[in-house]
Amino acid sequence: MVNEKVYIGSGKDFETRKRAHSNDLEGGKHFNKHLQRAWNKYGRDNFEFNIVEEVESSMQFDKEQEYIDGYLNSNKELYNIQIDVHSPFKSEPEAKVCIYFCREEGWYCSNEFETFYTRQKYCPSCSQLRQISWDAREEAKREEEEFYELLNQETQNWLSGFLGD
Ligand SMILES: [Zn+2]
Repeated sequence: MVNEKVYIGSGKDFETRKRAHSNDLEGGKHFNKHLQRAWNKYGRDNFEFNIVEEVESSMQFDKEQEYIDGYLNSNKELYNIQIDVHSPFKSEPEAKVCIYFCREEGWYCSNEFETFYTRQKYCPSCSQLRQISWDAREEAKREEEEFYELLNQETQNWLSGFLGD
């Protein structure tokens, strides 16, 4: 409640889930490190557990995903690391790099990390929601190199024209 950040989850019984989350957080062993850190920092009095909707159990995960996507699409922040409730884990970790640029303070995050979560969009270092895959960054680097190579070539062409060579 200090910030507007939320954690979205679902379960068959609200009280049971609530108790499980609270116990883990109180014990400092909640699997979600972001949530745990916030809990340690702000204290339990700054957290609220709410039922946002009661749905048919067959719709549980579709609904949960709908809420998560809704939050992400409106650029609101989530504590959830696992963004895809249907296929949360990869068998191989995926290399990701954070491309967050903090305009106000003028720094780049560029944190490199590996994740088993299929669609993790949360940087463990700066806690921002902006990341690209390693492959995409390699591609960006290649494009930059090609650009400079071309520029270099043109400069040399221009120079040799200028020197009458
Ligand atoms: Zn980051």
